[in-house]
Amino acid sequence: MKVRENLEVIQNQIADACKKTGRNPEEIKIIAVTKYVSPERAQEAIEAGVTHLGENRDEGLLHKIGQLGDKPVWHFIGTLQTRKVKSIIEHVTYIHSLDRLSLAKEINKRSDSKVRCLIQVNASGEESKHGLKPEDVIGFVQELKQFSNIEISGLMAMAPLTEDEQVIRECFRTVKRLQAEVQSLMYDYAPCNELSMGMSNDFQIAVEEGSTMVRIGTALVGNESEVH
Ligand SMILES: *Cc1c(COP(=O)(O)O)cnc(C)c1O
Repeated sequence: MKVRENLEVIQNQIADACKKTGRNPEEIKIIAVTKYVSPERAQEAIEAGVTHLGENRDEGLLHKIGQLGDKPVWHFIGTLQTRKVKSIIEHVTYIHSLDRLSLAKEINKRSDSKVRCLIQVNASGEESKHGLKPEDVIGFVQELKQFSNIEISGLMAMAPLTEDEQVIRECFRTVKRLQAEVQSLMYDYAPCNELSMGMSNDFQIAVEEGSTMVRIGTALVGNESEVH
């Protein structure tokens, strides 16, 4: 499938979810997750009109940027090792995986301007998932005050792998409630306007529950096995 065709389907699905819940589709950024695919395929996404691209590993990110340049808005969406911060920091506009103080400290140190970060929340409670427990998020936000180059732009979460739509929905709702809590603190460094929720299998539910950034790989650009 051409990226352009996939994009149209996804945009329609987002529009439906917005209609159902009285949202404006313009509030939602589609991030093409290009980790499975070649730079050529990622370029096809850019040509189809996608302006936000996401990678989950430093090598993948730097390779794609080497080919495609800094013009797309790059999002780092994967687990970020502290020692990798230095190599990616100049190239990314958003880091979706802030989950510990040591990482915040390194980001703060390696950048000379504010970095837009999303705090990763483990709202499903699965052991295998990264991110802070919901009950630890507010304390973490308060601790980040000391880092002048960290902006808390939002929260990021992944729903559990399940067919049970209600479980997925409940997970997203937990994160939405947390966002409201962070916003109620009214900290200048924590506007927390973004909710990065929703992937190929659950982005419509995520949009219904308030997502502003959907991270879509398979359904948009495909994965390696489909691309050739
Ligand atoms: C791979 C990945 C995605 C995209 O997953 P798809 O199911 O292919 O849409 C989204 N978010 C993160 C953090 C990922 O690692």
